[in-house]
Amino acid sequence: MPPSQPRPGQSRSERPRPEAVPPEPLSPEQAPSPRSTPDYTPSADLDLRQITGTGSVLIALDFDGVLAPLQDNPDLSRPLPESAQAIVDLSTLPATRVALVSGRDVTTLRRLADPPPAVWLVGSHGAEVDLGSSSPASTPSPEVTMDQPQVSVAEQRMLTAIDAHIESFEHDLSSGSGTSSEPGSGSEPDLDSESGSASEPGSGPVTEVRVERKPFSRTVHTRGLDSEFASALHAHVIAVQAEHPGIRVIEGHDITELAVKTATKGDGLRALIAAGSPAAVLYLGDDVTDEDAFAELEDLPTGLSIKVGPAPTRAPWRITDPSAVAELLTRLATERRAQLPQP
Ligand SMILES: [Mg+2]
Repeated sequence: MPPSQPRPGQSRSERPRPEAVPPEPLSPEQAPSPRSTPDYTPSADLDLRQITGTGSVLIALDFDGVLAPLQDNPDLSRPLPESAQAIVDLSTLPATRVALVSGRDVTTLRRLADPPPAVWLVGSHGAEVDLGSSSPASTPSPEVTMDQPQVSVAEQRMLTAIDAHIESFEHDLSSGSGTSSEPGSGSEPDLDSESGSASEPGSGPVTEVRVERKPFSRTVHTRGLDSEFASALHAHVIAVQAEHPGIRVIEGHDITELAVKTATKGDGLRALIAAGSPAAVLYLGDDVTDEDAFAELEDLPTGLSIKVGPAPTRAPWRITDPSAVAELLTRLATERRAQLPQP
């Protein structure tokens, strides 16, 4: 057992904190406490021994803002090449499972991330769990749902209401109701029902509205929009919840999502852990929704949570951006390979 490995049954407060290497472990006063807002730690200084030196591991990774830099157009998100290569390398190692955990639906996540077949996928914030069919680490527990869940009649009703509400945005703008701010160009966005987006041709990004249609939610992207316009759009979008309290509003990095399922990334991570029974788990995430996964790991003695970026977090460790993630994953693959028994 590596030095940083806690004993089974240890409480969180008793657990050893991840230590900085090389050369010396962090002193107690240097180690962040739970619920703190940790300072940035260089990827090279994070102690990964509880992951690299453990029998079986689950490496669970958010996609946007972690593997892939955030994009104004969410359809252009792609993993950094170094991270994609590290995922391939990790996936070939024994007793090493990589999973992507995203708010994207699984189909879109697979298209954008293009992971190896052995990578497990959690989509729609935990509502979809896809363990694939290629050499699972273990037989999944019966309670784990691998199939895409169905949309109930009530949920479909809510999705229809969400669509109608979003589409009413341009009409509200035209009539001057529902918002006090006109777009910077003085004209209204034009909804494109086929692409699921609203855009203002020729007006640049200021009044461009992107609506991502997922099986169980709609995500309105506001990255790159004029701030006043984005605020008005956000206020309009969330108003649908007043008539449909069952709709869950998720606010993330420049997105407002309206979901009809209540699953969280914590639920998705719990399903992955139940399926793989890993001895240790690493989770990297950058957004508010990743806090549910971090919370899940707080009750797991061998969980290691790392926040990516500056937002407040319950994770005890923080790194800067997707480039730091790429460095971390590359190092993780190298050190994991070195520590596993050679064939
Ligand atoms: Mg993210």
